[in-house]
Amino acid sequence: MFIGHFAVALGAKKYAPQVSLGALFLACQLADLVWPNFVLLGLESFAIDPGNTAMTPLHFSYYPYSHSLVAMSLWAALFAALYALLRRGRVRPAVLLGAVVLSHWFLDVLTHRPDMPLAAGESARIGFGLWNFPVAAVSVEAAMFAVGALVYLRQTQAVDRQGQLGLWALLVLLAGVYAANVAAPPPPSAAAVTWSAQAMWLFVAWAFWVDRHRAPRSAA
Ligand SMILES: [Zn+2]
Repeated sequence: MFIGHFAVALGAKKYAPQVSLGALFLACQLADLVWPNFVLLGLESFAIDPGNTAMTPLHFSYYPYSHSLVAMSLWAALFAALYALLRRGRVRPAVLLGAVVLSHWFLDVLTHRPDMPLAAGESARIGFGLWNFPVAAVSVEAAMFAVGALVYLRQTQAVDRQGQLGLWALLVLLAGVYAANVAAPPPPSAAAVTWSAQAMWLFVAWAFWVDRHRAPRSAA
């Protein structure tokens, strides 16, 4: 899943207006942000395997530290604790951020074939394989993204032009990257996948920036 994760972050703004969209993006994508680094460190692995599912040419052979239920529960707890520590007393938004981190696992389980580990080692792996049904998969993600974007737009208003144009550019680019991913031929190499995955950090930085140019919409 790709833009569906961002949809959760955008929608979560409704329940934690004081949390930056950047922090929410970091939470929803934490698993996919640490993943390429674990691959580069040799802790996790994947291979290019066209047809692995109808929608991804990647075979996720081993990724328990970034994508298992146990590890992601720990990541979620750690993320929430760190936020609560940095923003003293803000327990509610911290818990929400933790839930957003963990939501990544459940959404990936929906789309991946049974390659999502429950724990490290030779643990059971699950996945409902929505990626084998491209029309359904794209419909689900697009609908989620539209709802998430709408919620964020209703919760916040631009305080300047950057807040308006910056947000629309971000939303359009995210949707565009997703569309390009769906349409693109298999990547040339595993290294290309790993390094392009690092580009996701850009969206986090962008979200931090754009959120500073928007304010909670005051009830009229
Ligand atoms: Zn993922």
